[in-house]
Amino acid sequence: MTTPDMPWGAYAPGMAQLPGTQVPGTALPGTTPPGMAPPPGPPGLAASQQPPGEPVPPGQPTAGSAATRSGQFTPEAARRDIPVLQRPVNGRPVVWLDNGATTQKPRQVIETLASYYATANSNIHRGAHTMAREATEMYEGGRAAVAGFLGAPSPDTIVFTRGTTEAVNLVAQSWGRANLGPGDEILVSTLEHHSNIVPWQLIAKERRARVVPIPLLPDGSIDQDAYADLLSFRTRLVAISHASNVLGTVPPVKEMTALAHRYDAKVLVDGAQAVAHFPVDVQDLDSDFYVFSGHKLYAPTGIGALYAKPEVLAGMPPWQGGGNMIDQVEFGRVTYAPVPHRFEAGTGHISGVVGLRSAIDWLSSFGREAVAAYETALLGHAQQALAAVPGLTVLGDAPEKIAVLTFTLAGHDPMTVARWLDRAGIAVRAGHHCAQPSLRHYGLEAATRASLALYNTAEEVDQLAASLTQLQSLTQLQLQGAG
Ligand code: PLP
Repeated sequence: MTTPDMPWGAYAPGMAQLPGTQVPGTALPGTTPPGMAPPPGPPGLAASQQPPGEPVPPGQPTAGSAATRSGQFTPEAARRDIPVLQRPVNGRPVVWLDNGATTQKPRQVIETLASYYATANSNIHRGAHTMAREATEMYEGGRAAVAGFLGAPSPDTIVFTRGTTEAVNLVAQSWGRANLGPGDEILVSTLEHHSNIVPWQLIAKERRARVVPIPLLPDGSIDQDAYADLLSFRTRLVAISHASNVLGTVPPVKEMTALAHRYDAKVLVDGAQAVAHFPVDVQDLDSDFYVFSGHKLYAPTGIGALYAKPEVLAGMPPWQGGGNMIDQVEFGRVTYAPVPHRFEAGTGHISGVVGLRSAIDWLSSFGREAVAAYETALLGHAQQALAAVPGLTVLGDAPEKIAVLTFTLAGHDPMTVARWLDRAGIAVRAGHHCAQPSLRHYGLEAATRASLALYNTAEEVDQLAASLTQLQSLTQLQLQGAG
């Protein structure tokens, strides 16, 4: 980007320039110009690099996978892979800034799913036939891919779940029920999504333990002094986000974990907003539990994972009963399958695992460090652009932050702001973002949130800022007219 009003270097010293950003006013590659009809039929599959009728065999590298791409990252390269970004919304090319809620899917993932059902569908683990064996290999291959993605020591440390929420509930119901007792404390940061608060409240009530909030500082970082003071030998577990979905804060998880371990407390890290944005190594963090959702990582909905240290997982009782999780069942006695299968009762989301693997492959093909550097530079640009909007206040200014910008706009409630932006095809979220304690830290019940991903561009951020400025100008004119 070379436009004079965007001094890239000033935003993120030492950072690479945002590659391939657009001159305002020029069309984004592959997008439909405003006013044009949406492409007919299901979007994306037509853009396939595979010949029609020859789907990519699931489990094989897809076009754009780590095996076929050089590793160079540009947002345009990522955009070209995301069919839905070609559709217009309200007559304008969609600007998807709701990535914190869910990310859009690359055609590689979409095709892998279609291909799985077209060529390979079978239940797993108990079939004696070829397709059952193949599907089992794909499912277990997905487990190995997740282990590699998280830096886990072995695939056996990975349990598939519906997502982050189910993974936290699994830990609370299994580990929590077995390990918490009266007077025990669970320290939960005030940053947390409700899914990393409520499961702890439920099990604490049952076990007569206590959930203790770790306070925040004004900039939205976790108060480390307060945390150190709250830790004690009553602390059995610390629950912290690797990245906040409202404030974007990236807490010093490794240091906080080391401190918790001095008190023999376990640490659960909610990686829902982290894994798509920067590399994660659970062994380096020394997390006891790490959880994430596939759909925030360019993968399908309904699939996610729990990582747990092998010795911790081995000691955990089952939390749901059914097929797949047992060894022997008699009416007087039941024995269970080894980990991780003990925690996967019933038929799993097999296609979801196959899709998750494809998404991991897709993201990794760009180089995760390169993606993180780009998103940090884009955040810097967004902070500058939004600072110029009259009456706009961004919540959270922690030293380490992902590209999440939650804001208030003077004179407008958050829902009005989101609806205004939607008219221009800009998708943001308004409300409490399932993290009411974080918002109440700022005395708010609701706010508007733009959350960025690797396929967002500086031009899209400028569109957001321009639309918000326009809203403020119109409001000013209306007020003057009324006066
Ligand atoms: N944790 C964080 C930080 C989140 O942002 C979210 C979803 O927005 C969740 C947990 C819950 O994720 P899911 O609904 O996919 O289980």
